[in-house]
Amino acid sequence: MNKLILVKYASEIFLKGLNRNKFEKKLRDNIKKKLKGINYELISDQGRYFIKADDIEEATERVRKVFGVAEVCIVTEVPRDMQAIKEEALKKVKDANPKNFKIETNRANKVFPKNSLETSKEVGAYVVYHMDGLEVKVKNPECLVNIEIRENAYIYTTKDKIKGAGGLPYGINGSTMLMLSGGIDSPVAGYLMARRGVELHCVYYHSHPYTSERAKDKVKDLAKILSTYTEKVKLHIVPFTEIQMAIINGCREDELTIIMRRFMMRVACGLAEKYGIQSVATGESIGQVASQTMEGLMVSNDCADRPVFRPLIAMDKTDIMDIARGIGTYETSILPYEDCCTIFVPKHPKTKPRVESIRESESVLNIDELVNKAIEETEVVIFQ
Ligand code: ATP
Ligand code: MG
Repeated sequence: MNKLILVKYASEIFLKGLNRNKFEKKLRDNIKKKLKGINYELISDQGRYFIKADDIEEATERVRKVFGVAEVCIVTEVPRDMQAIKEEALKKVKDANPKNFKIETNRANKVFPKNSLETSKEVGAYVVYHMDGLEVKVKNPECLVNIEIRENAYIYTTKDKIKGAGGLPYGINGSTMLMLSGGIDSPVAGYLMARRGVELHCVYYHSHPYTSERAKDKVKDLAKILSTYTEKVKLHIVPFTEIQMAIINGCREDELTIIMRRFMMRVACGLAEKYGIQSVATGESIGQVASQTMEGLMVSNDCADRPVFRPLIAMDKTDIMDIARGIGTYETSILPYEDCCTIFVPKHPKTKPRVESIRESESVLNIDELVNKAIEETEVVIFQ
């Protein structure tokens, strides 16, 4: 008897029609990358993967986190033989010791003489016969025993199932430049984009000496955490002080934030252009702070030359915090180091800026020169 990992992938992948092969290949490649260093064998079998591994727990933990994986189950492999299936099913129900149970069979291999329903009934009867007081319950059984009949038979119960990361295979849906600050929101935004298969690149605007090295290190730590879900992540660290000083010296106080955000957008798009990245993403959520109004978002979008994604736009802060805790970025995000926005905050920021008047206000600045210089002086750190 052998323990294996059964990998079920996102049902969305089955709906891809002609693209399905491409999705499956990407997912398989991503799983293989995650299993580096472990001794394993991966077998594709009609919309599922089976993985044999020396260290099955470690392998399960790694595969579970791969985007596109809906569920992983630790299954017991037995010969494709009714008696062997019955005995293993009984053993599993005995282990779980439930009040009620149900058997569900999926016969992918039609060579097996009994169909799915007949198999479930026969195995169920065998289990009931051998366990006093155990009942069959069709809806919401305490213990669901799954039997998959393929080359061999594979058996697992409710407690052998672990929820996967969901989403789509990383790298299948283009790329984005995430504006990554040290806050709670932007790492979550990056995670959600990556989970939909979008390749992640990060940019951080650093205002030395107004923001400390520790603030920068915090962003690096966040990029590193994100990279455990993706592949290597490049963090572009942009020297932002000169731009901020130019804004403070040249523009109205109540427009500082919005003009600064326009520069962030220009630099993100400029870097994206330079490295062939297709879009920009931020951790903004509508109404969360003064700059995240409908008007504020329109005015910063005015400087973008590619799609700007805001995956948190309609989420409540409490829900964003829950995700941050789940993905392990929260504890780092709440460390108290200031970011560049907090020291340049105007007392009464404009919440309903108009594009024309902001364009007018910033026209005193040497915009292209400032942006180009910041891009040139950007430093890149890679996390693996
Ligand atoms: P977060 O929790 O992600 O920092 P926030 O609620 O503090 O967000 P803002 O400070 O207004 O909101 O920033 C909105 C978004 O702008 C952030 O989610 C992030 O995408 C981007 N951003 C802000 N500051 C920086 C920075 N210093 N470097 C890179 N991106 C930034
Ligand atoms: Mg912030």
